[in-house]
Amino acid sequence: MKLYKIKKSKIDNKGRGLYASCDIKKGTKIINYIGKIITNREVDESNKFDNKKRIYLFTLNKKYTLDGDFPWNIAGLVNHSCDNNCDYNGKGLKVWISAKRDIKMGEEFTCDYGFGFDRDYKQFPCKCGSKNCCGYIVREESRWRISKKFAMSNKKFNR
Ligand SMILES: [Zn+2]
Repeated sequence: MKLYKIKKSKIDNKGRGLYASCDIKKGTKIINYIGKIITNREVDESNKFDNKKRIYLFTLNKKYTLDGDFPWNIAGLVNHSCDNNCDYNGKGLKVWISAKRDIKMGEEFTCDYGFGFDRDYKQFPCKCGSKNCCGYIVREESRWRISKKFAMSNKKFNR
């Protein structure tokens, strides 16, 4: 059974997202993130991968990157949220999305896109609408650079 449904989403500009089709327990694998395996050198040399496309790239190891920018990669529809309920996981050359906490039927699946904080961060405004939204798509560990109020929540990483 598929654990997701494709529906309209307010988060993404393209207007779609993936939603839970049933209640899902923490740790459940939801969907594989599929694409083409390319070399890191191809990423550096191709102008297909400008900043706007990096959203779909996963560095797998020193040599290879997974390019998920294909219409058949349904997992590419999962949107970023500052309060994400899913995470990307990977092993070898495989990447998938799994539940970071229990998720209720009808909730939208969201991940942390993991963008670093750099001078281009304003290119990617975040519309996730969560209470702790920092306004831009920047990974959790770097959000304190945008606003000091996120410095406090950083503490939970020192488990
Ligand atoms: Zn946000």
